[in-house]
Amino acid sequence: MSNTHKYAFFEGNYVPLENAKISIMNHSFMYGTAVFEGIRGYWNEAHGEMYLFRLKEHFVRMKDSMKIMHLDDVKYSVDELCKISVELLRKNEPKTDTYLRPAAYKTGQRVGPSLEDNPSDMCMFTVPFGDYFHGAPGLKVQVSSWRRVEDNAIPARGKIVGAYANTALAKTDAILAGFDECIVLSENGHVSEGSAMNVFMVKNGKLITTPITENILEGITRSSIMEFAKAEFGYECIARQIDRSELYTADEIFFCGTGAQIAPIIEIDKREISGGQCGEMTGKIREFYVAMCRGEHKKYSDWLTPVYGSGAKSSDKVKATAKS
Ligand code: PMP
Repeated sequence: MSNTHKYAFFEGNYVPLENAKISIMNHSFMYGTAVFEGIRGYWNEAHGEMYLFRLKEHFVRMKDSMKIMHLDDVKYSVDELCKISVELLRKNEPKTDTYLRPAAYKTGQRVGPSLEDNPSDMCMFTVPFGDYFHGAPGLKVQVSSWRRVEDNAIPARGKIVGAYANTALAKTDAILAGFDECIVLSENGHVSEGSAMNVFMVKNGKLITTPITENILEGITRSSIMEFAKAEFGYECIARQIDRSELYTADEIFFCGTGAQIAPIIEIDKREISGGQCGEMTGKIREFYVAMCRGEHKKYSDWLTPVYGSGAKSSDKVKATAKS
C-alpha cells in the first residue's frame, strides 16, 4: 500500500517517511517485541476538522502494553504522545479519514529474546484509512479452530506485535475458507474476540460482551459502547463469559474496534443471525458511534481531539482532552 502522507515520527524527529527505517537486525523485527496502537482520525468536511477518537485512552493503553514488555524506558508521557500525534498530522495535513499508528519497540540488535538491558524507542506514522470491512448488510464469520493466546502465554491485554501472529493465522484461515472474519475462543472454550475487534451479542434486549479476563484486548470502542449505549438508549450491558453456542442463538451480534468500527455479523458457522440483516440495536449503536466520532454529538466532544484546532493551538486542545 503506498502512503500519501509524507512524514513519520522516528528517533525523536519528524522525518520523511522514506527515511524512517530500522535494521533487519532489530530485536522487535526478529522477536515481535514491539507494542502498538491503532487510532482513527475522522475528517469532518463541514467543520474543516479532523477528530482523533479517544487519543489519550489509546496512549494510556500503549503505556500499559509497554510496561508488560519492558519498553518503559521510552520516556514520553501520555500528554507528549498526544502532542506528537497532533503535530505529525498537522505536518501531513490529511483531509480524509486517517489511521494513526504509534509503536514502541526494542532498538537493540542482539541475538536472544530477553527484554532487559535492551533499549527501546517510539515511532509513529499516519495513513489514509477508509472502511476496514466492505459489503452490506454484514459479515459472515467462522468460529476459528485456532485458540486465543492465553494471558500466561502472550497477554492479550497488551497490544503486542508478536501476538498478532495468532490473529493472523485465525483470520487467514477464515478468509481462505470463504468467510469474512473469525471469532476465536479461549483455551477454555469460551468466546474471546475477533482477529482485531471485540464482540457483542444481543439477547432479549440486553447487550452482552466478553469479560476482560477472557484474553481480549480491552477495547476502547468496547468501553465507549458500554457507556453511551446505556446513556443514550438505556441498553443494559453485561460482561460475562459467552459460550460458542450462545452465538448461534443470539438475536444480534456485532464486532467493534477502531478499524472495524461497528460491524454487524449476519452469519456464524453457517447459522443466520438477525435474519441476515443488521439488527435493530446494532444499527442504532452504529449510527450513533459514527456520528459521535465525526464530532456530531457535542456531549461526547471530550472524547475527541481536534487536529487543526479551529482557532486554538493544537497543544491547548490536546491538554483539554489529555490530562496525563
Ligand atoms: N482486539 C484486538 C485483538 C484488536 O487488535 C483490537 C483493535 N485495536 C480490538 C480488540 C479493538 O480495540 P479498540 O476498540 O481499542 O480498537
